[in-house]
Amino acid sequence: MERVDCVVIGAGVVGLAVARAMALQGREVLLLEAESAIGTGTSSRNSEVIHAGIYYPQGSLKARLCVAGRDALYAFCESHGVPYRRCGKLIVATDASQLAGLEALQAHALANGVDDLQRLDGDQVKTLEPSLQAVAGLLSPSTGIVDSHALMLALQGDAEAAGALLALRAPVTSIEVMDAGLCVEVGGDEPMTLLATTVINCAGHHAPVIAAHTRGLPAEWVPRRYFAKGSYFSLAPATPFRHLIYPLPEPGGLGVHLTLDLGGQARFGPDVEWVDGLDYPVDETRAEGFYAAIRRYWPSLPDGALQPAYTGIRPKISGPGEPAADFRIDGPAQHGMAGLVNLFGIESPGLTAALAIADEVSQRLET
Ligand SMILES: Cc1cc2nc3c(=O)[nH]c(=O)nc-3n(C[C@H](O)[C@H](O)[C@H](O)COP(=O)(O)OP(=O)(O)OC[C@H]3O[C@@H](n4cnc5c(N)ncnc54)[C@H](O)[C@@H]3O)c2cc1C
Repeated sequence: MERVDCVVIGAGVVGLAVARAMALQGREVLLLEAESAIGTGTSSRNSEVIHAGIYYPQGSLKARLCVAGRDALYAFCESHGVPYRRCGKLIVATDASQLAGLEALQAHALANGVDDLQRLDGDQVKTLEPSLQAVAGLLSPSTGIVDSHALMLALQGDAEAAGALLALRAPVTSIEVMDAGLCVEVGGDEPMTLLATTVINCAGHHAPVIAAHTRGLPAEWVPRRYFAKGSYFSLAPATPFRHLIYPLPEPGGLGVHLTLDLGGQARFGPDVEWVDGLDYPVDETRAEGFYAAIRRYWPSLPDGALQPAYTGIRPKISGPGEPAADFRIDGPAQHGMAGLVNLFGIESPGLTAALAIADEVSQRLET
């Protein structure tokens, strides 16, 4: 059995950020990834938005780590040459019945430390985005977009420069607590057994499965998995918009919004569809619902303008109709197993928050 100080499971944006943080602390790090490349899971199937931190319940990990992670991410992108743009976003009320919701959202954001939202009337919205139909809006100047793959490559580069090793096609199958440490079974082409002091489970959708195969971890520390699929449709004609455009949020997601990538391509999504597992193909029939949702704020969206793009699946730990669960970062102080941290339910804003999540993991290992 080979000894290693710290094992990080999963090389998505969170596992890469965690591996980097641990390696920068001088720890010996082995990052184990089941697939043959980094970042092929949820980290490459999202909106690539750097969220400001507007929506999440006050005092939640999502709220705190989004605001901290956003600032850390902008600084990281700047210092590491990761392409990003602070393009700002507009949240729009399309009729008078939504004005109270918009006001409540601004107050909520302020309580989360997002103090730069600007309230706009209908004319001000029109001046910024002439194609929009809105009676009022909120402008979020600290929302932006990032090239998520370039971000992951930069995190990997930092981690490796600090001595971390990445093993691809190395799926973790089980963990067992032993007197000498945590015994990690790895399958794949070159199966191995490792004895680690620290294990950090950042396996995204698969994290609860690994937790369920951790001998000695009581079942109450293994959440149930739910899958909420979000489809995206790209806009075939050139976009008339310069900002990201969002409606008021809806249950399970943020509503069908418009995001831009750094190449200027506009796409709409994601909607919310509860599914049974990781089923990624785009169901083209969902376009109909998109046209209806988008035309509430952009009535002149032309027929035939939407093309199926891709989907992502939110790694939920709360089901349909239940209150949205917070991020779960279960460390020794929670479950009582020394050296083990499990991350569950790292849905949006996990990309924005990745660097702050890594800091939080470090703290939970110290306490
Ligand atoms: C539709 C959608 C839109 C989103 N939009 C945004 C957004 O705009 N902004 C934002 O901040 N966040 C957004 N998010 C959230 C963000 O994408 C995620 O929070 C983030 O990518 C999660 O990263 P992760 O590393 O935890 O998971 P993943 O990227 O899924 O990585 C987990 C890794 O673990 C590996 N793995 C699995 N099992 C094993 C095993 N047994 N052994 C070893 N490795 C294993 C997987 O192969 C994978 O590489 C969105 C999410 C979705 C679904």
